Amino acid sequence: MPAAPICCRAAQSPQSAVMSDRIPVLLPYPFEGPFDYAVPLGAVAPPPGTLVQVPLGRREVLGIVWSRGQDSGPWPAELTTAGARPVSHNRLRPISAVIDAPPMPDDLRRFVDWLAAYTLTPPGLVMAMAMRTNAITPPPPLAGWALAEPWPETTRLTAQRARVREALAAGPLTTRGLAEAAGVGDGVIRGMGQAGLLRAVDLSTPAFTAPDPDHPGPVLSSEQRAAADELRAVRGFGVTLLEGVTGSGKTEVYFEAIAEALRQGRQALVLLPEIALSAQWLERFRQRFGVAPTVWHSDLGSRRRRIAWRAVADGSARVVVGARSALFLPFGELGLIVVDEEHETAFKQEEGVTYHARDMAVVRARLADIPIVLASATPSLETRANVEAGRYRHLRLARRHGGATLPEVAAIDMRAHPPERGAFLSPVLVDAVREHLGRGEQALLFLNRRGYAPLTLCRTCGHRIECPNCTAWLVEHRARARLACHHCGYSAPIPELCPSCGAAHSLTPIGPGVERITDEAAALFPQARRLVMASDTLVGPDAAARAAGAIAAREVDLVIGTQIVAKGWHFPHLTLVGVVDADLGLSGGDLRAAERTVQLLHQVAGRAGRAEAPGRVLLQSWMPEHPATVALVAGDLDGFMAREAAQRRPGHWPPYGRLAALIVSADAATDADAAARRLGQTAPKGDGIEVLGPAPAPLALLRGRHRRRLLLRTRRDIAVQPILRAWLAEAAIRGAARVDIDVDPVSFL
Ligand code: ADP
Ligand code: ZN
Repeated sequence: MPAAPICCRAAQSPQSAVMSDRIPVLLPYPFEGPFDYAVPLGAVAPPPGTLVQVPLGRREVLGIVWSRGQDSGPWPAELTTAGARPVSHNRLRPISAVIDAPPMPDDLRRFVDWLAAYTLTPPGLVMAMAMRTNAITPPPPLAGWALAEPWPETTRLTAQRARVREALAAGPLTTRGLAEAAGVGDGVIRGMGQAGLLRAVDLSTPAFTAPDPDHPGPVLSSEQRAAADELRAVRGFGVTLLEGVTGSGKTEVYFEAIAEALRQGRQALVLLPEIALSAQWLERFRQRFGVAPTVWHSDLGSRRRRIAWRAVADGSARVVVGARSALFLPFGELGLIVVDEEHETAFKQEEGVTYHARDMAVVRARLADIPIVLASATPSLETRANVEAGRYRHLRLARRHGGATLPEVAAIDMRAHPPERGAFLSPVLVDAVREHLGRGEQALLFLNRRGYAPLTLCRTCGHRIECPNCTAWLVEHRARARLACHHCGYSAPIPELCPSCGAAHSLTPIGPGVERITDEAAALFPQARRLVMASDTLVGPDAAARAAGAIAAREVDLVIGTQIVAKGWHFPHLTLVGVVDADLGLSGGDLRAAERTVQLLHQVAGRAGRAEAPGRVLLQSWMPEHPATVALVAGDLDGFMAREAAQRRPGHWPPYGRLAALIVSADAATDADAAARRLGQTAPKGDGIEVLGPAPAPLALLRGRHRRRLLLRTRRDIAVQPILRAWLAEAAIRGAARVDIDVDPVSFL
């Protein structure tokens, strides 16, 4: 690591150093705030944002120079942590070194503070997400070879050398890459280098070509043009909901806002819920702007991560498309944020620092004073409520692009048209699939459940096979011949005998997963070319891209998929969508169960009929009178959401009130119970404040830990953070039990 000692002697011998100044340094660890360090006399105090090396105990660690008592902006003071309780040592130790790395921009530091305070996370842990030590250090040099310039044409080459020359014609390669491409040993390459035929080059920092805002893109319809013009006109902070029916061209519209940011000399960030499923999106970006955007997600290899991080910091990356964590990149000139599919729960990070990337993107935009666009065909109730309250602008695209019509949706009443014994597809759906396939069109069977069967039951004793670590049934994965837990990853071979009563040939799979539907479809439509799209069968972005390509290229007749087929794909030849279980997801006590089911099924339905041939959607349901199903059939999302709002308003449920979940967990049930009881006894009281629980979590056992939940609900005008802080301080849970806080919970498991 390139480290420049700011004052060698002082740094080496702290006792003798005379300190001139103290500065707060935030370290990437769960402390309450920054620590103070000394600036050695004569050295210039490094400005806030500087990466520094400091002593911590006996170690040397990296940290970032923070600021004290930062301006909290329009939020209450209790929502900032910087300098709130700076932990100062009696004996101030000096900074050891200033690291040569791009500084953390001011608005990003304020964002870190804000997010930490809002989610009740130690700020150092949030900062760690932005610091990404492995990204901050520059990528190690990557030696490569290029042809000498000018090439000495007169030289006569051996066959091996000729192959090397050929392999390099398209551009430089690493030694290994070149050796493989040319089929030669390293010695041949070195020899050519010594002979002056090749020159050594550094491949570690590829040049980023800036997207061209004036690259000729698609011609917008008048409706699209009007929306794009409005988006382009926004200056400074402002949130716009871009709501458009599926296939209306929302992407093309917000591309114009990106083009505008680029023309203004600013960077742009697009958040997508699942970057692995973005192949088609990337291609459209390339068509509009001439080059690919910079991609950021957690699965990037270390080298690509470093290159991307540096390119964002030095401004050579102009447009970044990424997953949640892209919010923490060190943009110096951010001018626009887009959150596509804003309703997606994938934006909520549940592990580690618990935050909602859509909501935090709005905060980031506010701190940077830039516009933000939330795009969706099925906006969340939260966003709709913000529109209604006049906090967000609202743009609507009412028509599908290119004259395509919205699909016709109907329910199949399974009570009247049941499937055959042991089967899951109603004759009505089977006939429809046959009809569409017969016309040479594509069909999709959707079931949001991986594996073969969600439950294995013993017919003799009634035993249900459960996960030993979780309150969950094991899911049969027949292709792998295993039972697996979808919560902890436990898996075991499918037993021959019932583990409870020992009966043979008695274990029966109950209910379908996509695997089982695929078997049924294979028997019903043997001629159809089938493709399964599920997260465990398509691993990695390439697999999803290939599958999407095969569908678009009509190499597939029948698609069987889980929720990943619902994600914004454009399949022009797909005309029939059959939802195998439209009731799935409607039961269960989750606050947003119905909202989420309607959004998901509406998105799946939106894959049908996106080109000339009209689309048709069939929902298999045992209770088609459920308001969610009725709304889907009527295409009345607005009405459904209005009723949802009416139900949530009186009880102050979000978005008309605030929620925070407290999840107590411990290895021993008694410890979890004791801590939960203690939290219950010390629960806050007051007008507009209510605590529900403690109660066993629906996943009362997860990865072997016992879990209890409490829920704090307040009126919208009462912030939960100060209440939670006081509560946790009073309850003082220590020892075996741990309390995790989830502000604005999405999962209630
Ligand atoms: P949405 O995100 O609203 O569902 P998309 O942005 O995916 O819709 O657009 C649907 C399809 O229509 C995409 O293939 C897109 O490239 C195409 N499209 C949208 N607008 C235009 C346009 N103005 N010109 C050409 N193609 C367009
Ligand atoms: Zn498990």
